[in-house]
Amino acid sequence: MEGINSMTRTIALPTLSRERPDTSHACASSRPWGMQRRLIDSHGRVIRDLRISITDRCNFRCTYCMSTDCEFAETATLLTPREFVRVARIAETLGIRKIRLTGGEPTLHPQLEQIIAEIRQATTVEIALITNGSRLTRDSLARLQEAGLSRVTMSLDALDEERFATITRSTTTPQRVIAAIEDCISLGFSETKVNAVLIRGVNDGETLALANLARRYAIDVRFIEYMPLDAAHAWDASKFVSAAETRRHIETSYPLLALDSCDPSATASLFAFADGAAGRIGFIAPVSSPFCGACSRLRLTADGKLRPCLFSTDEWDVRDLLRWNASDASIADRLLEATWNKQSSHGISGTDFVQPRRGMSAIGG
Ligand code: SAM
Ligand code: SF4
Repeated sequence: MEGINSMTRTIALPTLSRERPDTSHACASSRPWGMQRRLIDSHGRVIRDLRISITDRCNFRCTYCMSTDCEFAETATLLTPREFVRVARIAETLGIRKIRLTGGEPTLHPQLEQIIAEIRQATTVEIALITNGSRLTRDSLARLQEAGLSRVTMSLDALDEERFATITRSTTTPQRVIAAIEDCISLGFSETKVNAVLIRGVNDGETLALANLARRYAIDVRFIEYMPLDAAHAWDASKFVSAAETRRHIETSYPLLALDSCDPSATASLFAFADGAAGRIGFIAPVSSPFCGACSRLRLTADGKLRPCLFSTDEWDVRDLLRWNASDASIADRLLEATWNKQSSHGISGTDFVQPRRGMSAIGG
């Protein structure tokens, strides 16, 4: 891997701006992104998925994501439920079809149910949640479903209790997460998924056990390549396990059959089990086979910044617009501008790659 030594290490906390933001959109048509009212970037990609990080807080400190001494944004800088919902509503008018709530750990947000219910009321988008699953009970899941949540993805990197504790630096057990997965299935959420990040020498010995969850529960288990987005900036190529290696490992026990994707912007390549067992295996390989060319995602951070790419080093502020009571058209313009400027690719393997200053938990994965 080249370029890793050039990563920056500064972590700057966001501040509240005192200056009135530029809310004028009168000359929007003179800007390339003002020409149409659809989220399309300058490379022709159409953006349909919005990931909203509703909090930068988390009850875990996964080694590949957060550091133990992480600093959180001041509460006053975080968007309110009403502000998240307003952006969601405007984003739908620009072509967003799916919203995934993330974090940090979204289930820590005391108004998660209200945020889901209000997005449901204000839009027709599909609402999904990605969570570490540690705080979900059958009752809370049923309430979220009732509020309008339709899909849940759980992150689970180890089934061995000690290893789980070492990775997450939490007191939760993997059994707790498994119980939440079982609850999602029995409540009838569509397409419950498990995400696992493998780190060489840490949990790559659990690849088969994790893959087996797909067979046991008839769900998708997706292996995500470890990306240089950890707050500690400790990523290095020696800890990286490629999707190809993980696939070979799984096929020592469970031969796989590639499935055609009907969604060209899907992040995961999906495989069925050759022996006909239920469940599927997915590989999300942003490092070894970037899928930037078909990316359909835009991100909103908990403190109100738009990030067109996980690896963006530039952000577009919507919080000031929201707080200065800007018009919907001005906010739409900011969404269009951020999207238009989406970088063509993340460039992880390039010699000039610079790791973004925010870690994954502050961006929203
Ligand atoms: N806390 C929730 C969770 O863990 O599912 C939601 C936020 S978390 C940032 C979203 C996803 O990002 C998780 O599936 C996590 O495994 C993944 N992630 C975090 N840091 C990562 C990294 N450095 N490389 C790859 N995936 C990462
Ligand atoms: Fe928290 Fe999710 Fe990051 Fe783990 S991956 S520290 S659960 S935000």
